[in-house]
Amino acid sequence: MKKPVYMDYAATTPVDPVVAEEMCRYLTIDGVFGNPASRSHGFGWQAEAAVENARKQVADLINADPREIVWTSGATESDNLAIKGAVSGRDNPHIVTSIIEHKAVVDSVRWLEAQGMASVTWLKPEPDGRIRPDAVEEALQDNTVLVSLMMVNNELGTCTDVAAIGERLRSRGVLFHVDAAQAAGKMPVDVRTMPVDLLSLSGHKVYGPKGIGALYVRRAPDVRIEACIHGGGHERGMRSGTLATHQIAGMGKAFAIASQSLDEECQRLESLRALFLESLAELEGVTLNGSETCRVPGIINLSFRGVEAESLMLGLRDVAVSSGSACASATMEPSYVLRGIGLSDEQAHRALRFSMGRFTTEDEVVFAADRINEVVTRLRGVR
Ligand SMILES: *Cc1c(COP(=O)(O)O)cnc(C)c1O
Repeated sequence: MKKPVYMDYAATTPVDPVVAEEMCRYLTIDGVFGNPASRSHGFGWQAEAAVENARKQVADLINADPREIVWTSGATESDNLAIKGAVSGRDNPHIVTSIIEHKAVVDSVRWLEAQGMASVTWLKPEPDGRIRPDAVEEALQDNTVLVSLMMVNNELGTCTDVAAIGERLRSRGVLFHVDAAQAAGKMPVDVRTMPVDLLSLSGHKVYGPKGIGALYVRRAPDVRIEACIHGGGHERGMRSGTLATHQIAGMGKAFAIASQSLDEECQRLESLRALFLESLAELEGVTLNGSETCRVPGIINLSFRGVEAESLMLGLRDVAVSSGSACASATMEPSYVLRGIGLSDEQAHRALRFSMGRFTTEDEVVFAADRINEVVTRLRGVR
């Protein structure tokens, strides 16, 4: 059987073959398998050199200093560390975040709230999924210690202007955490021009391996966060645990490739997006969820009038898509992100997310659009 067309790059990306090859060099007896924390022999020094090389590669993509990068197990852990670490030990802290953040942020903040460790203002986004800088500013209180917002929403592809929001926070001494898991490698992310203090990254959204991520922690002005995972004091005490050299080397390589190919890849995905939407133009009652203009090209969230997303997905067996985030699709609940931008349960149940990436071809896009045309028309005809 032919493999389905993969249109779920926002859930995860395949590891780039060049990255996979690189990772294999850090595992076996004839490779660099040492513990990067071993100071007494060359096995350790070589592994440490590989880790520091990767740290620079990841830092370079966001224009950071390598000393500002803390390795974690993924963006979920980075979000937890940033949020819990910023609030820990503060007196009566207040957090500002939004109702359409990734679960890793929503649930971390909700946990702090439930424990009585923080009070929270939950912002509602604009109908296009963006958070207005004014709305953030209006939510600030004297005891606000942290604002946490995502740069690109994983279900909509919509971008929030985090640079503008950061400008408003800098003068007030409020820490700003940005989940950039869906932004890195898809649009420019520059922490020198963006006033953010903490920024989450994931390996597997950028053609690196799963189970590795990083948290950017600003050095100037110096940002202090408490650790969540205690142990050997690795990563300057912020995240203990033996560093996963092969994962780290893989994420480094993946981010280096992303740095080189960013512009070209954006343009290519822009034209694939245009081709996809053109190929669906004949179909009536298709609406785009999220912003038309402030968005990354690779994520397209569409609602189909009169068609249940579940039925459409079943009909599209040869196209791998999702009706929202991978985390929420185990339940039959409509997406809280789509509900959060004001869609009714019914409208949310008619939405599918199509996401494309490095290995998506024109043929695949046209094939997917043809299948969608066919299945939507058939499903509408039945009623
Ligand atoms: C995928 C994703 C995460 C979680 O990243 P993991 O590395 O899988 O833990 C967090 N935030 C956003 C926006 C994501 O897209």
